[in-house]
Amino acid sequence: MILFLKKNTSDTQVENLVKWFDDMGIESHLSKGKFQTVLGLVGDTSAVDISLIEGLEIVETVKRIQEPFKNSNRKFHPDDTVVNVGDAKIGGKFFQIIAGPCSVESEEQICSIAKQVKEAGATLLRGGAFKPRTSPYAFQGLRAEGIELLLKAKQHTGLPIVTEIMDLSHLDLFADVDVIQVGARNMQNFELLKQLGKTDKPILLKRGLASTLEELLMSAEYIMAGGNENVILCERGIRTFETYTRNTLDISAIPLLKELSHLPIIVDPSHATGLSKLVRPLSLASVAGGADGLIIEVHNNPQCALCDGPQSITPEAFGDVVSEISPFLKLLGKEGLGGLV
Ligand code: PEP
Ligand code: MN
Repeated sequence: MILFLKKNTSDTQVENLVKWFDDMGIESHLSKGKFQTVLGLVGDTSAVDISLIEGLEIVETVKRIQEPFKNSNRKFHPDDTVVNVGDAKIGGKFFQIIAGPCSVESEEQICSIAKQVKEAGATLLRGGAFKPRTSPYAFQGLRAEGIELLLKAKQHTGLPIVTEIMDLSHLDLFADVDVIQVGARNMQNFELLKQLGKTDKPILLKRGLASTLEELLMSAEYIMAGGNENVILCERGIRTFETYTRNTLDISAIPLLKELSHLPIIVDPSHATGLSKLVRPLSLASVAGGADGLIIEVHNNPQCALCDGPQSITPEAFGDVVSEISPFLKLLGKEGLGGLV
């Protein structure tokens, strides 16, 4: 971190500032030029509050040269992280698809979709039990029963299950869940992230509706700082001025996050636009962009889905998506999808 000090700063003020950093255990180097005095902070400055320093009377500007995220930073961990979920590996050369309905609706529904998506190449099953709905009058999910039904589908198919947690008080219900999803709306629920950091469960962390990539990585940092390194990032579209789509898929997030971080990144082409017809092309685009996987909403009868029907594809259409992306995955040297690639 580099601090540019104001011109009229006295020697005593500079000395006080150096001592202030010293007392915090931060080493600094002073460089006094004819026109500009610059103070460089050395070492780990991730705990330094940049806005506090910017607010100091003698400071003109501050430039951070090191990112504030440490555990998730590729600089300190050059190799790709591979997250293991049962037999499925996500990250590095391994590509997986999580598929299933937006919400678990009944035993018959979740078990039949699980069977169909598995046959098509999905290696993990998704299904919302606790649903974050904009309206309190909309279907809120089957809650604890939904998790029970997901576990039944797991029993039948062997697919590990992915489901969203909305509140810390429900954590005990997630004991047998394989991947805990933190949804877009909870990306910055820091108390939740801290507690999930104390578990050893893989966490699927979705990007907030209006969050920057740095904010996403800082949220991953909350989980990792607690000791849980099993974080999978998810780009699921962000809010823009566009009205044709529910969100706008930020494809650039994939290569950028790959450069900044060693964590796997998967894409959710369903929530990214809210339109089932765009799932196929955006899945292809995500593969081309370097994603480590996809999470796709699949429903046996999208017109009657209790949540997110317009963006859900049928099991047949899901099979087509897998067939279309498979040759490209092979070209890229990826492995996964239960041996399909
Ligand atoms: C979901 O996966 O069903 C969901 C609610 O996703 P998001 O948090 O990305 O909106
Ligand atoms: Mn959904």
